Amino acid sequence: MRADGFIPYGCQSIDEDDIQAVVDVLRSPIITQGPTVRKFEQAFAEKVGAKYAVAVNSATSALHIACMAANLSEGDELITSPNTFVASANCGVYCGAKPVFADIDPRTYNIDPIEVENRLNKDTRIIVPVHFAGQSADMKRLKKLADAHGTRNGEKIYLVEDASHALGSFYFDTPVGACEYSDVAVFSFHPVKHITTGEGGIAVTNDRHLYERMQMHRSHGITQSPEYLERKSPGPWHYQQVILGHNYRITDIQCALGLRQLEKLDQFVRRRREVVDQYNEALAGVPNIIAPFEAERSHANFHLYVLQIDFERVGISRTALMTELREKKIGTQVHYIPVHTQPYFQKHFGYKDEDYPQALAYYSRCLSFPLYPKMTRENVDHVVSAIKRVTCR
Ligand SMILES: *Cc1c(COP(=O)(O)O)cnc(C)c1O
Repeated sequence: MRADGFIPYGCQSIDEDDIQAVVDVLRSPIITQGPTVRKFEQAFAEKVGAKYAVAVNSATSALHIACMAANLSEGDELITSPNTFVASANCGVYCGAKPVFADIDPRTYNIDPIEVENRLNKDTRIIVPVHFAGQSADMKRLKKLADAHGTRNGEKIYLVEDASHALGSFYFDTPVGACEYSDVAVFSFHPVKHITTGEGGIAVTNDRHLYERMQMHRSHGITQSPEYLERKSPGPWHYQQVILGHNYRITDIQCALGLRQLEKLDQFVRRRREVVDQYNEALAGVPNIIAPFEAERSHANFHLYVLQIDFERVGISRTALMTELREKKIGTQVHYIPVHTQPYFQKHFGYKDEDYPQALAYYSRCLSFPLYPKMTRENVDHVVSAIKRVTCR
């Protein structure tokens, strides 16, 4: 709850200990590209069970370096879910590739492997499953599909998980990010996500080659590593730009916050789960709404609490409901406007709204309700009674 009593749909949890860690770096001699970035990467990789991590200034950048490291380029296709933030598709467009969408499973709201299979062809180079609201996509089936197909050059199809929602989630018994069924997994540290660095993101992998290429892409395509140098080094000042990269670096100031936040992840996940349980219990049996479905294989961290509401039967439009809730100091949000309906994607790639009927149907009914670790039981009660008042009148 904010000072004015408003309950937003999502909110970071920052305490004095986090603030002190940031201040400590500000007082230290190195505030970027220093030891704290490295420490954060190591702690993060260990937490999710991956070998390597490359921390960057956003998850969008992390998706982009992953695509570049996999050599995604013009003539290639990237398949992702329409039910995601635009960044999951834009990373492919940055590389000149065509973004292709595969419709969602109406129960999990995640990409449907059958729809992926229908779109695989010789131009497919990358599949980007999105673990919507923290529930893992069906990675085993997607990995099988990727392995059974190849690109036109006989190369493999990469799996890059957009795990922006899924830090702290498990798929069967493995933490999301261990990359058991993928090449790279990407996480976001935007303030509404599980842990924050203000802005920030990370790409994790078990593949040393991808790791080193992502590191180069983070910083201009520059390297000092003997393995990648194309000419003999004349001295210790020397570096070489061997590919075209960007400046996607994150600061030590941000990573100090990230390190402290990471220590609290389990606590954040636990508290979110309690809030979700309270919602589910209180809303059981309420007509015209569908609560989140959890597949057995998935142990979601619950990034979002999404209800599907039959607005027509309830007799209120989504806009009217959002406005009414806002007056009661309750924030809600829509996740997501299907990416293929965005003007940019329709103009440049010819998509039509009706191309992905499941995503569209879901979109017409979804609404995300407040969920964050600092929510109290009273906050949840307040939201629940507001929902009941509207849907049961
Ligand atoms: C938040 C988010 C992103 C982008 O993350 P940034 O760190 O803001 O770049 C990408 N994909 C999904 C699914 C997200 O939720």
